[in-house]
Amino acid sequence: EVNAEIISVGSELLLGQICNTNAQFLSKELAILGINVYYHTGVGDNPERLKKIIIQAQERSDLIILTGGLGPTKDDLTKDVLAELLNTKLVYNQEAMNRIEAYFKTVNRAMTENNRKQALVIKDSYVLENKTGMAPGMAYSHEGKIYILLPGPPKELQPMFLDEVRPFLHEQGIISNFILSRVLRFYGIGEAQLEADIEDLIVSQTNPSIAPLAGDGEVTLRLTAKSKTEQESEKLLDEMEKTILDRVGRYFYGYDNTSLPIEVSKLLSKKNLRIACAESLTGGLFAQLLTQVSGAGMIFNGGIVSYTNEVKNKVLNVSQKILDEEGAVSSECAKAMAENVRKILNADIGISFTGVAGPTKSEGKEVGTVFIGIAFKNKETIIYPLDLIGSRDAIRSRSAYNGFYYLLK
Ligand code: ATP
Ligand code: MG
Repeated sequence: EVNAEIISVGSELLLGQICNTNAQFLSKELAILGINVYYHTGVGDNPERLKKIIIQAQERSDLIILTGGLGPTKDDLTKDVLAELLNTKLVYNQEAMNRIEAYFKTVNRAMTENNRKQALVIKDSYVLENKTGMAPGMAYSHEGKIYILLPGPPKELQPMFLDEVRPFLHEQGIISNFILSRVLRFYGIGEAQLEADIEDLIVSQTNPSIAPLAGDGEVTLRLTAKSKTEQESEKLLDEMEKTILDRVGRYFYGYDNTSLPIEVSKLLSKKNLRIACAESLTGGLFAQLLTQVSGAGMIFNGGIVSYTNEVKNKVLNVSQKILDEEGAVSSECAKAMAENVRKILNADIGISFTGVAGPTKSEGKEVGTVFIGIAFKNKETIIYPLDLIGSRDAIRSRSAYNGFYYLLK
């Protein structure tokens, strides 16, 4: 039985400027691994108090995880304090140094002594690679205790815990199981609905465990399986995935770190198709999201932001009759926009977005009324009418993401 304690270092936490989501994340993950977390402690960027809190942890915990304070600035002193306390020293880690040097070369900025400091690690520690940042993490065994040091930013800490710390704990025999995770991504279904549809599984399943997560209009489920072998864990994940997808498979679109724009890009390049967009309420957001994916040039011709009726008419050739009689927010207008942009920009597929982002009604149509059109070369144009809710930002963003979702259908 291993007892763990999480020490969160950083004055911002004590000042209430940020919320301690790292402790939450780590606690959840450790619970999945069957490791007891008995204490959460927090301390500012102060060496004396940090020292005291580590000594307190040594008295009552076997696995001591410290987060934050691995950065380049003066107030980042977690590793210095720990090294001193354990009577050891810091040494430069060549791999980390190479990464930092390479980074400064690519951004063409001078490296300072402070930046070099980030490559310092506790002598003889096991270095945890930081793929999303500069500062490496560390795992260090000393007099029967294990210390894990992780950087503060969640986007660095989270992958490091999953990809580096978990295998380390496995190697150390602290977790005897082989742990595998798989993220299933869904779109077009709310978090509440998805959870309701599989609630019995979420409640009853411990292996794999199922953890729902929401963000940006999409919902994800992370399945984590443990068993004696990798194959067995893989099999547990496959079986649970099938059970879940039997119920909500029509909303599923991809695994792990993918996104709707990435999946659309893959699909279009696989089919060798090029797309163009005509955007009104989204103001270029669809094009922005699509061009974030590298290699967009292979599948994206361009877009026209036709915000006013004049531009819809003069640039996109939407007839004055449609604009006068049906209005810009109409399926007729969405259809003309999609078909015309496809032809004008010489693409295989044309997609259009028109609607009311709010905060007030337009053309007498309610906020959230949105039409998405998708036009093909030799197929009938499809119009998707939507009734979205939320803020102006949410409506614009959901419109764009819905567009990607329909392109996958
Ligand atoms: P950096 O190299 O960015 O300075 P660091 O390892 O030194 O990383 P800190 O300086 O302590 O970490 O924190 C950097 C940022 O990480 C904070 O401003 C905050 O946004 C985030 N962060 C730190 N600790 C936590 C935490 N416990 N929970 C959530 N976010 C955190
Ligand atoms: Mg810092």
